[in-house]
Amino acid sequence: MTRRKLVAGNWKMHGTSADLTEVRAVAEAAAQLGERVDVALCLPATLIHRAAEAVPGFAIGAQDIHMADRGAHTGDVCAAMLHDAGATLTIVGHSERRDAHREDDAAVRAKAEAGLRSGLKVILCVGESDAERESGRAVDVVTGQLRASLPQVHVTTATFAVAYEPIWAIGTGKVPSTADIAEMHGALRRTLVESLGGEGNGVRILYGGSVKGSNAAEIFAVPDVDGALVGGASLKAMDFLPIVEAAA
Ligand code: PGA
Repeated sequence: MTRRKLVAGNWKMHGTSADLTEVRAVAEAAAQLGERVDVALCLPATLIHRAAEAVPGFAIGAQDIHMADRGAHTGDVCAAMLHDAGATLTIVGHSERRDAHREDDAAVRAKAEAGLRSGLKVILCVGESDAERESGRAVDVVTGQLRASLPQVHVTTATFAVAYEPIWAIGTGKVPSTADIAEMHGALRRTLVESLGGEGNGVRILYGGSVKGSNAAEIFAVPDVDGALVGGASLKAMDFLPIVEAAA
């Protein structure tokens, strides 16, 4: 099955209005590439509305959502609010949130379901720690995370993607071997098909962790790698666009 690649940037806690020039540059270049690749930028919540207005038609995403649709949750933001602000997608279950905000698989599942309920597309992150990789348990840990956090509602290739992000590869410049990426993405594909049936063949599996212009083509050539979730190299259009072009 051919799946169009998706390259999503994750700005994390970076970016103010001065950086909207980078969003514009990415959106313009993505429009030139047309149907060949899907491109999105997941911005801090504070920038979503302005970015969505600045680049209509380009996919602006959030990095997290609350699992509830509304309520007494001081400081939190729900999916419907982000959708209203112009977001069309959200990341859930990023390892930085699983770690710093103690989000477990059940919470991640609830967030994924909340996003889908409010009309956001969802990128669900999974990934093993250094110790889990060293002890040979990476595939079991990561497929287990996916089973336990997969939303229990209908998903399609258009509404849902998985991102495999080994924690030890995030922001470190370290990348797994292509054989290790292939092994993990193959295992995730089998897990998706077991859980979703034929639809599991359409769901995109992104790789994330130290993706840059110089390694993107090699990573995208690995079977079952359907795009990338990019942190540091997504902040500047000049670093991000070579990754997008490698996927197109
Ligand atoms: P990185 O981050 O590209 O800076 O390694 C990826 C991520 O955390 O999504």
